[in-house]
Amino acid sequence: MYTLFFGGSFDPVHLGHILTARAAREILHADRVVFLPANISPHKQSTCASNDHRLAMLQRAIIADTLFLVDDFELTRTGPSYTIHTVLALRPRYAPLPDDKITLLLGADQLARLHTWLRITELLSLVDLAVLGRIGESGPTLDHDLDIVARYLGQPIRARLAAALLPTPLVPASSTDLRHRIQSGLPTVGLLDPAVAAYIRNHNLYA
Ligand code: ATP
Repeated sequence: MYTLFFGGSFDPVHLGHILTARAAREILHADRVVFLPANISPHKQSTCASNDHRLAMLQRAIIADTLFLVDDFELTRTGPSYTIHTVLALRPRYAPLPDDKITLLLGADQLARLHTWLRITELLSLVDLAVLGRIGESGPTLDHDLDIVARYLGQPIRARLAAALLPTPLVPASSTDLRHRIQSGLPTVGLLDPAVAAYIRNHNLYA
């Protein structure tokens, strides 16, 4: 079984997450994608919506896709959610057999700070990474970010990550922009799943 792990704050989950995860699964011929909402992302102070709301939005966003699932493992732990801890804890559940494999999905905007991830070298020895294209992360910006990878983690890892860039569609959505849009009453059509938009409205989130 080939499983993709996709971690994040999902505050809120948007079509950038969903469409790129779907494309990545197709490109990599993976069997499933496991969304892993973080309790607190190590590089963020806090989330805007509660754990329960972020989980509920994610469940609504993936409902139509039978190859997507959500695991609330990180939400049930206190403190920052470190990917190395999650992978070590969940590997027996999602990849128990020798031929099973886990690949982590992450947006290209994460490359420049990958070296700050806890026990990143160990993590990279346990799982592959696959990098989702993100608007603005191309040409010189992408090269610059990959050079940061090379500076802190070495040339072989730079080459490995450069080869792990997936030709996923570039979706102009970010949770930060969506929170601002919702607060300002601007449209979210094409950026948010309608069921997630309805949930946000019904619970008056990000107002
Ligand atoms: P924020 O704007 O609050 O930083 P975000 O939109 O980046 O949030 P996260 O939940 O922090 O969303 O992201 C989880 C993962 O999804 C990260 O690896 C991020 O790079 C990736 N990601 C987010 N939006 C996109 C997108 N539009 N296309 C591809 N990857 C994305």
